Amino acid sequence: MSDPALYSVKMRAARASAHVSGAEKIVPSDAVPKVASQLVARALSHPKGVPDFINLKIEAQPHDLLRLPSLPVTTHVTQTAAEGRRVAAELLESAGIARSADIMARFAESHPLRGALLLDADTLERLDPNADRGVRATYMDDAVSLEKGTAHGKNHYAEAIVLATKVQHAPGIVGEICVSDDPDYVTGYVATRELGYRRITVIKEKGDPRGGRIFLYRGPRDGVAETIRFLERTPVLVTDVPVAAAPAGANRLVGLEDELAQCHEAGLLRKCHTLVAPTGPTAVVDGREMLVLASNDYLDLAREPAVVEAAAEAARRWGAGSGGSRLTTGTQPPHVALEEALACFKGTEAALVFGTGYMANVGAITALVRKGDVVFSDELNHASIIDGCRLSGAEIVVYPHNDLDELDRRLALHRAARRRLAVSDGVFSMDGDCLDLPKFLSIAQKHDAFTMVDEAHATGVLGRTGRGLSEHFGCARPDILMGTLSKALGAEGGFVCGSRLVVDYLRNRARSFIFSTAPGAPAMAAATAALGVLAAEPGRVERLRGNVKVFLDALRAQGIAAQSESAIVPIRIGDEKTALAVSAALAEKGFLVPAIRYPTVARGAARLRAAVMSAHTHEQLVEAAAAIAVCLSGCTVERTAVE
Ligand SMILES: *Cc1c(COP(=O)(O)O)cnc(C)c1O
Repeated sequence: MSDPALYSVKMRAARASAHVSGAEKIVPSDAVPKVASQLVARALSHPKGVPDFINLKIEAQPHDLLRLPSLPVTTHVTQTAAEGRRVAAELLESAGIARSADIMARFAESHPLRGALLLDADTLERLDPNADRGVRATYMDDAVSLEKGTAHGKNHYAEAIVLATKVQHAPGIVGEICVSDDPDYVTGYVATRELGYRRITVIKEKGDPRGGRIFLYRGPRDGVAETIRFLERTPVLVTDVPVAAAPAGANRLVGLEDELAQCHEAGLLRKCHTLVAPTGPTAVVDGREMLVLASNDYLDLAREPAVVEAAAEAARRWGAGSGGSRLTTGTQPPHVALEEALACFKGTEAALVFGTGYMANVGAITALVRKGDVVFSDELNHASIIDGCRLSGAEIVVYPHNDLDELDRRLALHRAARRRLAVSDGVFSMDGDCLDLPKFLSIAQKHDAFTMVDEAHATGVLGRTGRGLSEHFGCARPDILMGTLSKALGAEGGFVCGSRLVVDYLRNRARSFIFSTAPGAPAMAAATAALGVLAAEPGRVERLRGNVKVFLDALRAQGIAAQSESAIVPIRIGDEKTALAVSAALAEKGFLVPAIRYPTVARGAARLRAAVMSAHTHEQLVEAAAAIAVCLSGCTVERTAVE
């Protein structure tokens, strides 16, 4: 029996001539169609953007292609970029490459190249003939992927070892040093034949996009062409590539690395961006001034002098942290004062403050229902409600979004349950629409169910004075009104308002209240002061509402379908990568409008989510709408007819 023919499959994708992604495989002929399609799918779903050019090259390879054993892998755990560079320099010197400091200094030259810089290991003269390109190592693969015949589950780690192994077997090459150009990937390596592959866990600062490769050559000048030919043309299979190179004992973490790599591939990797400014309508993000359409600080209270001063004063008077849980030593006068102010603001008998809104939902739901009970939850409820339901042990009945007739039917079907709790967001956090509270309450009453409404995005936004849904509809209150101090109130913490009975019960039963340190007095005092400002200046709420209308009108004038009953304005896109690309294009223009995607919303329901503040000017909102329209053009979106 003869082996099947082998082919190399190489993919390279670019956008506006800039490299987006590239990969290559060597596989038997029968795996070529599958691998080709996987590589193309990978190119089309790269988080760097949708390519406008994909080159797929498929070439037959000899049967007896060169097989090389993998370099052995050793990991050097370093803490800082400086330490990593020092380790790299020492490794090069131990391999007989004397001018390590000068070599490190040549990195700047390699950053812009797609390939590597080829240097004479002793004179450091540059030897690669094409100054814009460098030398590329290609036609190589891990022998394992040949057996599996698949390109799935991209493994950056294995790809790096395959490359380093091939390079160190090229004639005349005596060493390599590599730093990734991924700003989030701080690991690099040094490789030589004797030392093997020396992984250095931190070799550059996080966020630094500069990376590159240097190959070091020792030999006659007339051998350089042969070395480059080997690197760029000779097909190589690397055998026995180790599965992982974590320090001893940490190998079990490799699953995490793979999962993250898959997130990255699918455009679902999350990152934190540092906003260098107090919250407000503008901020400096990753070094540039942006108009922020993304803050939950709807009424601009987080930097309001009276609010900030109250927090500072409380810190001086009561300390930075509370020092204990609420039921032990963590309750101070600011906690009590805030609970009174919240009950008064929401028009209930009592209130209870939690560390966060998330904890308030989880704590309240798990305390109220358990095994034998049924909780009825809108399918678009916030994750903290979902988690509370799951953790409670109660049967969970999820009803279609805002379909209260269906809630009615489901409640009727569960008459026998011990306790029934209907729970809903008041304003839905990713859609900006709101619950029909009067109908919700009357249905629940008909079936004798408890009611709980999450007013995280309703507090400070709905109702003439920002008291929420009851004020907005002019109706009664649910049994439990949950909210957060961290959105329109500009502080942090969560709360539950209700009857004295409900609040007493939760104080004794809500585990996230009982078993967690009380939030500090500064946040409590800030929230109380924010309630004071809100009461004194209801015009803020009115201004916010006016701004939402200006923004919606401006979007519609641009032909973009947009609707909202709150300060949250979703602009639906669908595809995750497109949403990311539009958001990135807006960021380029100086508008921070985040893309929201799975798991925050369903797969394929990605969107831009704009949040309006009372402090935005009309001009800013109109400009933002115009920029959104420009960045959306070219993507498929729901559009209304332009009047
Ligand atoms: C933000 C939010 C929460 C959580 O509040 P935090 O104080 O941020 O923990 C709960 N529910 C909804 C609907 C939210 O939007």
